[in-house]
Amino acid sequence: MPVDYHLHSQFSGDSKTTLEAICHTAVERGIAEIAITDHMDYSYPDMRPDHQIANIDDYFDTIARYQERYKGVLTIRTGIEIGMEPHHLASCDAFLKQYPFDFVIGSIHECCGLPVSRAVYFENKTKEQAYETYYSAVLECVKAFDNFDVIGHLDYCKRYYPGEYTSGDHFIAQPIVEELFRTLIAKGKGIEVNTSGFRHVSQMCMPHYDILALYRQMGGTRITIGSDSHVAEYVGFHSEDTAERLKQLGFDHISTFEQRVEKKLSL
Ligand SMILES: [Zn+2]
Ligand SMILES: [Zn+2]
Repeated sequence: MPVDYHLHSQFSGDSKTTLEAICHTAVERGIAEIAITDHMDYSYPDMRPDHQIANIDDYFDTIARYQERYKGVLTIRTGIEIGMEPHHLASCDAFLKQYPFDFVIGSIHECCGLPVSRAVYFENKTKEQAYETYYSAVLECVKAFDNFDVIGHLDYCKRYYPGEYTSGDHFIAQPIVEELFRTLIAKGKGIEVNTSGFRHVSQMCMPHYDILALYRQMGGTRITIGSDSHVAEYVGFHSEDTAERLKQLGFDHISTFEQRVEKKLSL
């Protein structure tokens, strides 16, 4: 039952991977369903050139062709990873209302106008301040915005923190994370498990298993699995063992989406 609900292709400015390569690899690896989720970032001060889809109509048309080509072999959903910041939410909403996406990941890549992926974000901040500022921005977006299905790579800042990573870092700012989960659950929104973390210094998915357990204990059930692959080689990366781990943590299904409606895949 492996799935991959976070994939970048040639339509993201930061990927050159063709849909053919993604679909071919997915089938080869026995993946039943994928969602293409290319980037559209509304970030300060302008849209990030490497995080946007240049031709959205071409994006829909091309995915539709592959849906037809792989019919009965691989289910392909048309998703998007929308980059959010609190002051750009109206633009995100207007964009999303124009197109019939199956699935929307809401991700925060920029915080207080700074890219979290660059050292400048962490300058003059302790590790605690960097994490708290990031989670607070996520919380602010989640409180003010409804047009997403899951929040992407929740503890994204751990991937880029330039200092030492320690195994307890995911407990930083837990009260904010708890408020975030209460808000998401009340709104019927979910989170993703982003397995790209297994490729980075923490050697752990985003968010950490302990945080996934907290989400489940608080009543969270809506969860997707995605590799955040920008190259075909990582399609389905750790999908199967992550699903197994979710089962152990008490989840009885993972979520897939068609036309923004959740479909449950039993674990
Ligand atoms: Zn992202
Ligand atoms: Zn991504």
